[in-house]
Amino acid sequence: MLPDTSRFQIDKKPHDEEMIDVMDGAGRWEINIHDHGLVALVDTMPRLAPAGKTADFAIVQAARVSYGAGTKQVNEDRGLIRYLARHRHTTPFEMVEFKFHHRMPIFIARQWIRHRTANVNEYSARYSVVPDKFYHPPLENVRKQSKTNKQGGEEPMDELTAKDFLAYLDKAEALYGDYQKLMEKGVSRELARIGLPVSVYTEWYWKIDLHNLLHFLSLRMDAHAQSEIRDYATACFALIQPIVPIAAEAFLDYSHSAMHLTRLEIESLRTGQPLATENKRENAEWDAKRLRLGK
Ligand SMILES: Cc1cc2nc3c(=O)[nH]c(=O)nc-3n(C[C@H](O)[C@H](O)[C@H](O)COP(=O)(O)OP(=O)(O)OC[C@H]3O[C@@H](n4cnc5c(N)ncnc54)[C@H](O)[C@@H]3O)c2cc1C
Repeated sequence: MLPDTSRFQIDKKPHDEEMIDVMDGAGRWEINIHDHGLVALVDTMPRLAPAGKTADFAIVQAARVSYGAGTKQVNEDRGLIRYLARHRHTTPFEMVEFKFHHRMPIFIARQWIRHRTANVNEYSARYSVVPDKFYHPPLENVRKQSKTNKQGGEEPMDELTAKDFLAYLDKAEALYGDYQKLMEKGVSRELARIGLPVSVYTEWYWKIDLHNLLHFLSLRMDAHAQSEIRDYATACFALIQPIVPIAAEAFLDYSHSAMHLTRLEIESLRTGQPLATENKRENAEWDAKRLRLGK
């Protein structure tokens, strides 16, 4: 039986104030990354903000439900948002949402998809043919294995070896010809694709709220993240910065460019004594923090 919705009357109220489109009336905002990558902002919630305000207003609107209208006189919007960010009162930030269209190589998508709090719909290489697009870094971006970070690369590789690396990528990319030929012979798309390298591009729509986006950005804009995904994350940040400038500034101040101190580090700072552990890595991390602190 169908529900009887005709018994409800929808009362469509006008806005209390003049509203503006936070994306300036554009269909989408795009940033091109690397050779074929894309970070595009497709839509936001809220899409409309009171004239003279930004989408930050939705954070304040939600927060004032819990703190009451009384806070309005005490805190101006910026102060309230910064207070919420410092004290990790995160749910008001979930009232803002962003829908992105991303195109990136599969090895980046694999790291990205570990962030479980987004809604994702990805290109189907079972249904459609994989486009002939591969991530092929420029020579100067071929990095040496880091000596200090087992997961990372750092200085540029010498030119000869960098060229060898790019020739190795050329060979992997040439497999695209076999992929096409095998599909022409009748091999299914879902199987033909499995011989392609992880440098091949995929794409998806990715929707996430601001709180979870900032968590993603804190991990993937960080210096420990692989430089390629860092470029994508930083582009996401560049797109949302003009939409929620106050929250974005608070993120830089209290998360991205801030520093976490352990109990041992606070003790060492207070007493001037070495860190109370022999652990080499912990000591190296403390040295790096002290350098930043000028201590
Ligand atoms: C520099 C770096 C190196 C990494 N190296 C590796 C590696 O070598 N191997 C590897 O496997 N992964 C690696 N990862 C991935 C990492 O372990 C996390 O899986 C990834 O960063 C997602 O983090 P998250 O779970 O906090 O994020 P999200 O999935 O976005 O979740 C956000 C938050 O929601 C909560 N949450 C979400 N889902 C659940 C759940 N099911 N149960 C409980 N809480 C939940 C948690 O509080 C979580 O912090 C690496 C990540 C980084 C940034």
